[in-house]
Amino acid sequence: APGRLEVIGGPMFAGKTTELVRRVDRARIAGREVLVVSHALDDRHGPGRIASHTGLAVASRAVTRAAEIPGHLQPGTVLVAVDEAQFLGPELVDVVTGLADDGLDVVVAGLTVTFDGRPFEPLPSLMALAESVTRLTAVCTVCGRDAAYHVRLEGAVAGGDALTTVAGYVGGAETYQARCRAHRTVTGRSS
Ligand code: ADP
Ligand code: MG
Repeated sequence: APGRLEVIGGPMFAGKTTELVRRVDRARIAGREVLVVSHALDDRHGPGRIASHTGLAVASRAVTRAAEIPGHLQPGTVLVAVDEAQFLGPELVDVVTGLADDGLDVVVAGLTVTFDGRPFEPLPSLMALAESVTRLTAVCTVCGRDAAYHVRLEGAVAGGDALTTVAGYVGGAETYQARCRAHRTVTGRSS
């Protein structure tokens, strides 16, 4: 039987990793073998770990390209969980749809938007192809409304070119803030 693809999408601080870890925990309690995948570039929490802003963490296989994911499957793997999917690029779409076609359940979490408010592939495509989509929002740091966006703070440390590369997206609360529609173009720190 085919598997299914689920996507957990939203801006930074929306609770995507928390929700992904919840899925992984529940599957393991049910005795299901889970492969957890992260991007090698995102080593904020040490290599081979996914971690939430709430302090939850689980061990992961760090990959640099989506095509490496199938090579980490164990004979009994039934669920593949991928965090920070935006780092893996458009190539992830064929890889995870292929896994679901082959009978695996796949849950993919990642950013739906860039820090300048544009759709951030591959999440939009994955959301279009998934059986199930969980769309999360964060809390706007200026006004407390639901935040579907995040901004990069002025003065955040990063080399100029890094802004346009994947590396430019690696950062936490010191670099990015969740923002609502009204405040998504207001840069600078809230206080
Ligand atoms: P994501 O993976 O989407 O970045 P996490 O699951 O790592 O989110 O973290 C979500 C947690 O971040 C929330 O439960 C909350 O404790 C914390 N948090 C910090 N700032 C915010 C914010 N502006 N809006 C919502 N949650 C925030
Ligand atoms: Mg996260």
